[in-house]
Order: sequence, then structure tokens, then C-alpha cells
Amino acid sequence: MPDIKIQNLTKVYEESGNKIVAVDDVNLTIEDDEFVTLVGPSGCGKTTTLRCVAGLNVPTSGTIKFGDRDVTDKPVQERNIALLFQDIALYPHMSVQENMAYGLKIVGFSQEERIARVEEAAELLQITDQLKKMPADLSGGQQQRVALGRSLVRDPEVFLFDEPMSDLDAKLKAELRPVIEKVTDEIGCPTLYVTHDQEEAMTMSDRVAVINDGELAQVAPPKEIYDEPNSRFVSQFIGQPSTQFFDGNVRAINGTAELVVGDYKYQVARDGLEGWDGDDVSVGLRPQYISVSDDPEAGIPATHLLDEPLGDATHSFFETEFGEVIVVTDPDFEGNREEYGLVFQTDSIQLYDADTGVRLA
Ligand code: ATP
Repeated sequence: MPDIKIQNLTKVYEESGNKIVAVDDVNLTIEDDEFVTLVGPSGCGKTTTLRCVAGLNVPTSGTIKFGDRDVTDKPVQERNIALLFQDIALYPHMSVQENMAYGLKIVGFSQEERIARVEEAAELLQITDQLKKMPADLSGGQQQRVALGRSLVRDPEVFLFDEPMSDLDAKLKAELRPVIEKVTDEIGCPTLYVTHDQEEAMTMSDRVAVINDGELAQVAPPKEIYDEPNSRFVSQFIGQPSTQFFDGNVRAINGTAELVVGDYKYQVARDGLEGWDGDDVSVGLRPQYISVSDDPEAGIPATHLLDEPLGDATHSFFETEFGEVIVVTDPDFEGNREEYGLVFQTDSIQLYDADTGVRLA
């Protein structure tokens, strides 16, 4: 299978005389057997990027290649892609089997070949027992499997998904996620998957591409994106609850930096902070790296506001002099609106340039 090369892709829309730069010089290669998720907030350019790869939007500049084949000017029907959207749009008057076979019939496959391909795809998607049913008799997750099957039977070179699960409830999503992973893995096509759901991005991808304002912010495997975000934006976007941020100031002494946050001082052993002596920084800490002491003097004094018990952990909200802070506490934690001290795990502190948000250390 070919890889997908997105080279210097820019897409500018014009609306009422205004120019909207939806995608801004994006470069991304998706290897032939790789699953890459494009994730970011609403309006950041995810769908526009995918539509350019699909041939549904014409780029303002840049190139799309499948392997060595330049497809930038090719219409969607000449790209041999499997394309799945949020809207499933099966033919309501056709059975599952007929829905899956219809595209093959139109391009002249024999009945025997159609049956063989549909049966093979149905087995992979675990919908063999649904083949005689009508779409109205299926759940949303089953309908999306049929839509996937309809693409699969045509032997696509490339898989493109645009938020295919956003209409499904959490349980159906959790069921469909491994099916999509298994199918794309077995077919071995490059896959570009668009979502605003960072949980989908983290669980399904070989690499996650975080996009912000039309520009790629970071492209890396899920664990690296989570552990080593390269910017305040990525740190805040990936991870639930979000990274908590505090205004701070650096005093670097021989590689060990003293961080000052309000009246509180933290020793952070990091290289490369010498030049930052005296500068303002944004101090980031994931909520599981803040602990709660019964002694308000042991850390930043915090008034407990409320708990959200999740079974395996609790999200606890506190009011502090720096604003509201969320901490991941034990499953049985109950704050009862009392006073606590919030203690930072200094090894896990992330430091960002206060102005640009770029990661410093
Ligand atoms: P969402 O998650 O909400 O679908 P997205 O990240 O997929 O958002 P896009 O749909 O690619 O973002 O839109 C990127 C920007 O381009 C937005 O500002 C959007 O308003 C604008 N845009 C998208 N399509 C058009 C269009 N056809 N004409 C004008 N502007 C558009």
C-alpha cells in the first residue's frame, strides 16, 4: 500500500470578502500501515485537511501524494479511498448485504465475487449474522460497521475517517474502536482519522497529530504526546482533566531551578534553564501529580469545593489563591468542603514560556 504524503498543504476560504486560513502549511506523512489521528478543537482545520486528502476540497497550495502518485488534482472517485463520515447514509430500502455489495455491482463485479467479498468483510466486522437485516433494524454502531464494510469490499488504498463515532454513545464507541483498529490493521492501509475526542486519539493511534489554528502543533505517539507535550496548548488539550497551570518565575542556579509560584518555592532539577533566570513562566502540572495534604500549611492552601467520583479515581475541585485547581484523588476521597494543602510533585512539573507557550523544560 502507498503512504499518504501531505506536503505544504494550505487551504484558504473566502467568505464575504474575508480570508479564512483553515489549513496553514501542513506537512504530514502517514506511513503505509500507520494509523494517524488528527485531533484538535472545533474549527482548527481537521476536516478541511481530510477533505483535501479525499479530493473533496481543492487545496489553495500544496501537494497530496499517495505513494509516488500525485493526486492533488484527482477527483475523489480516482483516489481509491475508503471514506467514513459521522453521517452513515445507508440505503434504507436495501439489506445490509445489498448495501455492502451495491458499489461492486455498479462497477461490474460478478454476483459470485460480490458475495465472496461481502462475506469476507462481514466476518472481519463481525456482522455476518446481520447481513439479511435492514439498516433500520441495526444500532448506530452496527450501521457504522456496515458503512465501513461498504468501503472495505472495494479494496481501498487509503482509509479516511471524519468523526465516524461522534453520534454514538460511549458504550458503542468503546465497541467500535477496536473493530476499526482491527480492520485498518488487517488491510494494512494508511489511515487518517479526524476527531475532536482526545480519548479516541490516544487509544487508537500509532501517532497523534495535534492541530491548532490550521497549524500542526505536535505529531508523536500517544504516550509521547501525553508525557512530553511540546507546548502549553498540547498539554492542555491532551489529558483529562486538563493540565493545571500557574504563573511562575524562574531562578536558575547551576541547572537546579528555583520556581517561584506566588509565595511558594519549588526546586526543579532541569538543564537549560540558566538563561531563564528571572523570567516569567507558565508552570504546568497534570492533576494526578498534585497531592492533597490534610495540613493546609503543607502546600498551597486550598478550600475543597466538590468531588466527582468515577469509581477508579475521583476528580476533586479546590479553590486556591491561584483560582480553581482540579486534582485526581483516590476513589474514596471525600473532601467535605474542608481546608487542605496542595502539594506539587516537582519531578512532573512542565515549564512553558509565559508568552509563547513553547515548552522550556
Ligand atoms: P469541527 O471539529 O468543528 O468540525 P474542524 O477542525 O474540522 O472543526 P474545519 O471544518 O476544517 O475545522 O474548519 C476550519 C476553518 O475553516 C473554520 O474556521 C471554518 O469556519 C472554516 N471553514 C470550513 N469550511 C468552510 C467553507 N466551506 N467556507 C468558509 N469557511 C469554511
